[in-house]
Amino acid sequence: MEGSVDVVIVGGAATGSALAYFLSNSSSFKGSILVLEKDASYQKCATALSVASIRHQFSTRENIQLSQFGTEFIRNIGDTLAVDGDRPDVNFHEAGYLFLATQAGYDVMRENHALQCSLGAQIVLMNATELQRKYPWMNVSDLAAGSWGEKGEGWLDAYGMMRAFRRKAISQGVRYLENEVVQIHKAGANITGVTLDNGDTIACGVLVNAAGTGAMKLAQQAGITLPIESRKRSVFYFTCPEKINHCPMVIDASGVYFHPEGEGFITGVQPPEDQDPECFDFDVQYQLFDDIIWPTLAHRVPAFEAIRCEHSWAGHYDYCTFDQNVILGYHPDIKNMVFANGFSGHGMQQSPAVGRGLAELIEFGEYKSLNLKRLGWERVLSGQPIIEKNVW
Ligand SMILES: Cc1cc2nc3c(=O)[nH]c(=O)nc-3n(C[C@H](O)[C@H](O)[C@H](O)COP(=O)(O)OP(=O)(O)OC[C@H]3O[C@@H](n4cnc5c(N)ncnc54)[C@H](O)[C@@H]3O)c2cc1C
Repeated sequence: MEGSVDVVIVGGAATGSALAYFLSNSSSFKGSILVLEKDASYQKCATALSVASIRHQFSTRENIQLSQFGTEFIRNIGDTLAVDGDRPDVNFHEAGYLFLATQAGYDVMRENHALQCSLGAQIVLMNATELQRKYPWMNVSDLAAGSWGEKGEGWLDAYGMMRAFRRKAISQGVRYLENEVVQIHKAGANITGVTLDNGDTIACGVLVNAAGTGAMKLAQQAGITLPIESRKRSVFYFTCPEKINHCPMVIDASGVYFHPEGEGFITGVQPPEDQDPECFDFDVQYQLFDDIIWPTLAHRVPAFEAIRCEHSWAGHYDYCTFDQNVILGYHPDIKNMVFANGFSGHGMQQSPAVGRGLAELIEFGEYKSLNLKRLGWERVLSGQPIIEKNVW
């Protein structure tokens, strides 16, 4: 083996770099940390292609609390991740999410709202009349209610946040290498090291899988099957001749979303299940815009009848087919491999809390700040999904 490192993190985007920051920031952790990232341009990772929004409107305690810490972290990121007085700014637009419900979705919205508020989230429930008053540009004729995040929710520069984590981690002694891990070495229930695409081999004490859609291949090399697929998500940027004031991140009852971005808006939708196979290409699914998104936008906001689609891109979710929640922590069959995979559509906002949680797990053998045990492998292996009702 060419070298030996205490903690090797595979994948240096949002998750891997957040973990590298938190672990190297612990005054009691004395080990060495190496991040292996196959593409230092980060052009194709989910973090760089993300819609980069954060919300507290989930239906499970863990997802709500993960994002609540995310908001707190993002608000203070300039101080926390400053390097030599240079403070990162991730351009956090705290304009809230607005979930819309027809009568059919109203009861679930009310249940979710009660849980969110009990955990301290500042979410306002509005009936159709109140919605119309607050958003005069919206067609509310088929709506029963909307729930809006008054504080803590919005969108930001995910790429900037990831770079800030990475830069701070490096300033704290973390080493980054641009290399792909192509092989994992195992002795019994222990990972002993990894081989890189240049042929070098590195021994490690703990191996972390933070490889996004590369996670399945990496897990396979360790003999573990992850219930995760790479699923494509297309995003469209459009402009509208009419001004739409005070627009939050709107999640239509149909699942189509939009939020302001610069002079225009970005939008997208989860493809229908039969058009959502495992996929690794980056071809934009234009028919989604024509068949689903545009008609829905024009129905919800009549001024959107006249929009113009300016550009688009596609990225990939590491989509957890088991329950669309992250699989976090050690696998019972391997003593020293930590997983942080299957974030589906919410890994950017969860990266600060997941980074902190995994740093605690690696250093102390347990979660200290937020108990994330329920998101571990046990639920997967015992066939008990955590049903998150607010995913799309
Ligand atoms: C279109 C889109 C919209 C999204 N919108 C949101 C949103 O609004 N809010 C939100 O919270 N989340 C959103 N997400 C999800 C979020 O972006 C991801 O969950 C999150 O960025 C995952 O971060 P990650 O670091 O785990 O993975 P990634 O960002 O995918 O990074 C994984 C890294 O691992 C590297 N890698 C892989 N295999 C290897 C290997 N063998 N060796 C070395 N390096 C390797 C890759 O090069 C990559 O840089 C969205 C995602 C997409 C695609």
